[in-house]
Amino acid sequence: MGQQLYLVISGAVAMAGLMALLLAFVLYLLKRNRHTRIEGLEWWAPAPAFWLPATLLIAARGSIADFWSILVANALLITGMLLFYAGTRIFFGALMNWRLWFTLLGISVAGVAVTIYVYPGITGRLIVIAGSVMVMHVAQLRFLAGIGKSATVRFLQLVLVVHVLVLGLRQITALTSPISENILEPSAMQLMYLANFAITQLLLEIAAVMLAAERLRTDLEFLATRDGLTQTWNRRAFLQLAEREIELCRRHGHRLSLLMMDLDHFKKVNDAHGHQFGDEVLRTFSQTTSAQIRTTDYLGRYGGEEFIVLLPLTRLDTALGLAERIRKAVAEAPPQACTVSIGATDWRGAQDNLDGMLARADEALYRAKQAGRNRVEAAP
Ligand code: GH3
Ligand code: MG
Ligand code: MG
Repeated sequence: MGQQLYLVISGAVAMAGLMALLLAFVLYLLKRNRHTRIEGLEWWAPAPAFWLPATLLIAARGSIADFWSILVANALLITGMLLFYAGTRIFFGALMNWRLWFTLLGISVAGVAVTIYVYPGITGRLIVIAGSVMVMHVAQLRFLAGIGKSATVRFLQLVLVVHVLVLGLRQITALTSPISENILEPSAMQLMYLANFAITQLLLEIAAVMLAAERLRTDLEFLATRDGLTQTWNRRAFLQLAEREIELCRRHGHRLSLLMMDLDHFKKVNDAHGHQFGDEVLRTFSQTTSAQIRTTDYLGRYGGEEFIVLLPLTRLDTALGLAERIRKAVAEAPPQACTVSIGATDWRGAQDNLDGMLARADEALYRAKQAGRNRVEAAP
């Protein structure tokens, strides 16, 4: 019975290790994405390459030297956990205190060596190994507590919390009831402890793949909807958002205003100072305008030096006040006095649509240009 259970457990453990390795390959593929660079994958991905040999060495206990089956195996296991922790920190843009953690890693491995060669005993060894992993998990949980609460982050937290609890429980039971030197002793607690290690490794890699996929999705979504130079909404995304806002107006009778903006004599700016300087002016213009609008407003790049602002829940007179503030802020912003002309309009009820609003705002903008530029005009 014990033997059979052992076979089942070790089969499951090996399978979990292999699957974790496969997921590491998925992480590696995500790393190779050309459009966006996700940090941390280079630390998450190799962790299973440490865990799987560790598992195999532990399983070979008795048929190989303790040096390999205990010391090397556990050093690999703990190192893999450390790599994973590093991956999590680096993925979320934090640094890793390598000196501190390598010191702790050294102490753990030395501790394991003591339990083989100086004071042989499985209880002490278990305390050292489970304790080291627990410390890393707790550090990781503390770090994650300061990260935004996405479902994926919560999943990783859950995996870590459950493992910390199992490790803690195993340490307590190891102290209260002696463990057999045979680590394959099929006591319920020991089996749970070993299987949990393997399952945790798999779940950690799953969490890493989920986090990386989520990041990839948000990065690509950002790239697909933003203008590369100014990071404002690109034309396509802006028009989609505008259609949706108009739909909301139709349904709920909300107000909506729109500003069409065009930088004045921008060709001269380029001619006098060069295209790169012109690009810098466009970036500054976007930042200046963004600082004036609400977070619920949308600033988009409509074309070269033409921008557009959509103002949900805003009446025309309020929009004109805002346009005037933007005009003033732009004229006063460095690096050089570049001015903007603005045409404004609002949504005029069920018969109105986006094309109509754009045409009116454009016409008002044209009048602002005709009237001498650096001004705001409202559509009649
Ligand atoms: P107006 O006051 O009548 O608007 O004069 P303007 O010179 O701004 O008019 P026009 O629309 O003819 O010129 C726009 C210029 O903006 C032409 C183009 O070279 C420049 N431009 C468009 N996109 C970019 C860009 O991404 N970077 C830079 N540096 N310049 C750009
Ligand atoms: Mg212009
Ligand atoms: Mg123009």
